[in-house]
Amino acid sequence: MNLSKSQYTKYRSCPKRLWLYRNKKEVLTPPSPALQKIFDRGHQIGELAWKRFPSGVLVKDGYQNPQEAIKRTQELMAQGVPAIYEAAFDYNGILVFVDILEKTPTGWNLVEVKSSGREIDPIYVDDISIQRYVLTHCGVTPEHCYLMHINSDYFMETDEPDLQQLFLLTPMDSELSSDEDIEENLEDIKKLLVGPEPTVELDKSGCADCECHDYCWKDIPQDSVFALLRGNRARKFMAQGIVRVADLPPNSFDNEKYNRWVEVLRTGKTYIDHAAVAAWLNKLEYPLYYLDFETTQPVVPLWKYSRPYQQIPFQFSLHVQHEPNGKFEHYEYLSTGKEDPRYGCVDALLKYIGNSGTILAHNAAFEKTRMKEMAHDLPMPGSDAKRLLDMTERFMDTGDPFKQDFLHPKMHCSWSIKKVLPALVPNMTYEGMAVANGGDAMDAFDVLYSEKLPPAELEQLRKDLLKYCEQDTWAMVKLVDALRDSVQ
Ligand code: SF4
Repeated sequence: MNLSKSQYTKYRSCPKRLWLYRNKKEVLTPPSPALQKIFDRGHQIGELAWKRFPSGVLVKDGYQNPQEAIKRTQELMAQGVPAIYEAAFDYNGILVFVDILEKTPTGWNLVEVKSSGREIDPIYVDDISIQRYVLTHCGVTPEHCYLMHINSDYFMETDEPDLQQLFLLTPMDSELSSDEDIEENLEDIKKLLVGPEPTVELDKSGCADCECHDYCWKDIPQDSVFALLRGNRARKFMAQGIVRVADLPPNSFDNEKYNRWVEVLRTGKTYIDHAAVAAWLNKLEYPLYYLDFETTQPVVPLWKYSRPYQQIPFQFSLHVQHEPNGKFEHYEYLSTGKEDPRYGCVDALLKYIGNSGTILAHNAAFEKTRMKEMAHDLPMPGSDAKRLLDMTERFMDTGDPFKQDFLHPKMHCSWSIKKVLPALVPNMTYEGMAVANGGDAMDAFDVLYSEKLPPAELEQLRKDLLKYCEQDTWAMVKLVDALRDSVQ
């Protein structure tokens, strides 16, 4: 049976995924830009990881010419090189490429490199297990198997990352599957591939990044039970033939919020708890500051005093209203991309946000956390850090009323601003904008940072970023207006 390591892990994540990959390729969709970025990031991290095992030799072009790669791997092993990158092995048609095969005094260690941080995905166990299985049957039983991944707690206090601290080597030997279990899986795969298309239960998070998502979810409506419920609870209703939230019986849940959503979607009528919305509005204190950050999230820290995967603000928009019905002022900050963007961000926040008044953000925990991180991580006068930290005590979340007190049928059971805004302010749209979401903004910052654009295009990109971020804070203004209208 011909099978690659990635096909084995596809099977382990979802048998249908492997079946479709092998038997119905036409339904697979190419990776989204966000997913492609994750793949690219994985390659970059893989190459950086090689530096932890210096003097190694790369087996080139293995995917194009596996037989040549296998031969080259054998030659390098015979030479006893300190490490082989992308070492290739084949056993009974199962082809694996080992990220790093490290020479030890008495044999070889297997190292699988992943760009992920804190969490160890169970699929990594399968990934390393099939590699060890193949190597063992090729007569190269690894002495130890390691997962090499990013240490997300590493706080970089130098200008360049220290690779010893950036990467963690987690021993995986005791976690790996036995040969018997793997052989059982391989038998199942053989039967699966010659059988009919399998039926599996859908899983919102498990399916999210799958190349078969569009195919498997084509008959699932936007207001399905998955919009309201997670995992097993949603699957339980699906198994009973209840697909839409609107099809759920009234008062199905102990949770009042869920019952309200069922009622909203059954009747098509907006639910408003007028007293709760009015109480929320009454807590607002002028001046009102509507704030939104855009961030970049480098896996390998780019700037001193930051961590892997840390969200680094590079831009904000701020609408300020000093009194009820007063005019709005707009302020903004956008890094040039050349320096650590947080310093300019802090200076601008301290300049534009005064010492009193409510600061509003949608999903405010995000903005608050970024401000706390900057206050704690960056060298700055104590008085500035204190002002930043004091600001975090003044936040209110424009998402809060939409969690359970103001539910519109077109919000599709979500309080995300991208769902709430079209429901309440349909004439305000992100459609057609060159930068239309946080992912686009992150990508645009990467371009700014790379400094590769000609000046005219750079100027346009900056305009696009500023326009998008301004729209986010103006959207919050409009949502608060809509809340006010609802209780008048
Ligand atoms: S979308 Fe979900 S159910 Fe379909 S193949 Fe992928 S993981 Fe399996």
